[in-house]
Amino acid sequence: MSEENAINVRILYGIGWFLSGAALLCLLTTFQNIFQGIPLTLKSYIVPFWFGGISALAIGLWEMKLRDSGRKLQESENRFRNLYQKTPVMLHSIDRTGRIFSVSDHWLEVLGYEREEVIGKKLSDFLSLQSRRYARETVLPEFFRAGFVKDIPYQMVKKTGEIIHVLVSATAERDRNGECGNSQTVIIDVTERRRAEKEIQKLAYYDTLTGLPNRILFQDRLRQALAQAHRERKQVGILFLDLDRFKAINDSLGHAAGDMLLKLVARRLQGCIRESDTVARLGGDEFVVVLSGIHNQDDLIASAQKILETLSRPVRLAEKELFSTASIGISMYPNDADNVDSLLKNADVAMYAAKEKGRNTYQFFSEEMNVQVVEKLGLETRLRLALKRDEFYLAYQPQLNLQTGKITGLEALLRWRHPDAGQVPPLAFIRVAEETGLILAIGEWVLRTACIQAKAWQDAGFPSVRLAVNISGRQFVQPDFIDMIDTILKQTGFDPNLLELELTESIVMENVPDTIMTLTDLKVRGVRLAIDDFGTGYSSLSYLKHFPFDRIKIAQEFVRDITVDPEDAAIVQAITGIAETLGLEVIAEGVEKKEQLDFLRLNRCAEMQGFYFARPMPAEAMTGLFQKSMAGEGVNLLH
Ligand code: C2E
Ligand code: MG
Ligand code: MG
Repeated sequence: MSEENAINVRILYGIGWFLSGAALLCLLTTFQNIFQGIPLTLKSYIVPFWFGGISALAIGLWEMKLRDSGRKLQESENRFRNLYQKTPVMLHSIDRTGRIFSVSDHWLEVLGYEREEVIGKKLSDFLSLQSRRYARETVLPEFFRAGFVKDIPYQMVKKTGEIIHVLVSATAERDRNGECGNSQTVIIDVTERRRAEKEIQKLAYYDTLTGLPNRILFQDRLRQALAQAHRERKQVGILFLDLDRFKAINDSLGHAAGDMLLKLVARRLQGCIRESDTVARLGGDEFVVVLSGIHNQDDLIASAQKILETLSRPVRLAEKELFSTASIGISMYPNDADNVDSLLKNADVAMYAAKEKGRNTYQFFSEEMNVQVVEKLGLETRLRLALKRDEFYLAYQPQLNLQTGKITGLEALLRWRHPDAGQVPPLAFIRVAEETGLILAIGEWVLRTACIQAKAWQDAGFPSVRLAVNISGRQFVQPDFIDMIDTILKQTGFDPNLLELELTESIVMENVPDTIMTLTDLKVRGVRLAIDDFGTGYSSLSYLKHFPFDRIKIAQEFVRDITVDPEDAAIVQAITGIAETLGLEVIAEGVEKKEQLDFLRLNRCAEMQGFYFARPMPAEAMTGLFQKSMAGEGVNLLH
């Protein structure tokens, strides 16, 4: 009913009462006058009319007011009941005996009960065992004392048996004696919130890919392990683990396969340790294991061996069967260090030593390793000076055709004549030169010097043979690498068709798409390309055919035992076979004996390089060899 209508109804209602009262009293007056024989005049009705009307109107208004307030009370009660029941909050009311007599719809919805199943029950019927005890021993005494409790963490049990986490607040009504009567309870479901909090914690302390603890949690766990070991006078072992050639796998098989391998390694590592120990992923392909309660080194050796063995089991990735190994560095508390950072650093240093030892192995930290690190720093300074002071020179090693016995090429090899230390072999300093970036300047010097020398030999009328120059990975990925080659070829006037760059498999597999671009750039210029030490790195044959290589250099380690080890012999035969199929030339490195040479010749290897014919020699000695070979024109130098 609209408000205007309601007013109209009220006016009509008032008029009704007025007229009824007036009529009633006028009627009574009429009867009374007739009874007493008083004549009926209009004037005698004035007073009864108004008095009766106004009195009845007053009664009517009073009745209307009473009805209004009753209705309002009813409405407000309905509103409250509605609010209580329909509000999306878990509410319930409990009587003085502790039984639930009212409950909101949301309460029933969340816990999955019907109202009849709840009314008359106790709250404790819906709590987990743990929360029941907590309520009995801690919460209820406080509730009866203070008359209220706030944000009590309980676990409630759904009808399905599922547990939810809630915060409960309750207030009791007190009677005149101060006794607790009914109480009202508000419950907040915080299950989702807790899950989100846990998720955030997981993100902060766990590695998302493998689910292992991350560096932060690892440091924390190690700190705890050290504190405990200190109290109990025990030892702790830290195993720093780095996968061998992970980058090559990642780049050649794709990041998804790399991720799968990391997850698998994480699972395998977890299977190798006790529950009380920690495996963490520090990032990339680096993992660390904390082993507490260690008695001696043997315990750690056993763990390291178990890990290496487990990890080296074949893995199926991207439809391929792979063998992935790891190198482990070990440091121990308290022998090697007494704090988290130093223990980790020492284990890392030991891991590098394990890599140098040949990978797939473990190595304990020793003080000498730190000495080596310090020496490395010294080496860097000495290398810088060597370039300035002209302490480098090149040695040239001839490469020969196995059928004609003629020199077909020369490999330029870097030599360092140190004023105090004497001859320093390249393997002793190339890695440091690469790590420090000095290889860029040194490599450029090698290429320029070799090209100048080879051009000078040509100009002197010696045969135009190939010039092979080793290129380091650091050089190869420089954006201006091709420019550097162009400049040197232009400055020296050396024929690009006679220049052969030697790259190792690891350089090639590092970043396959970029490698193909750079190699193609070189090919366009006519520069020749060879894979050095073929067979020792991780390379995928399927990629090999996409790379524009001209030559494979069979690694010395296969040639060495070619005549005694049938496996090596088979490998060399396989390599010459592949090369033939792919249309690549083959040269064997490190040929020292006649039998090796005969084997190679028999197995269709076209060329060789090795001490059997000649060691690397300085330019002057090479000039002498050229002269000798020219003097015996047409002579097979291998006979
Ligand atoms: P590489 O490129 O595989 O060079 C062949 C190595 O085998 C040379 O060692 C050579 O002296 C040695 N060799 C040749 N024939 C025989 C043999 O019959 N028996 C034995 N036992 N060894 C033989 P070198 O000169 O010590 O060089 C070692 C490595 O250092 C090279 O291996 C190459 O990877 C690197 N290297 C040398 N010069 C340079 C350079 O200018 N730049 C870069 N980036 N690396 C270089
Ligand atoms: Mg080489
Ligand atoms: Mg080689």
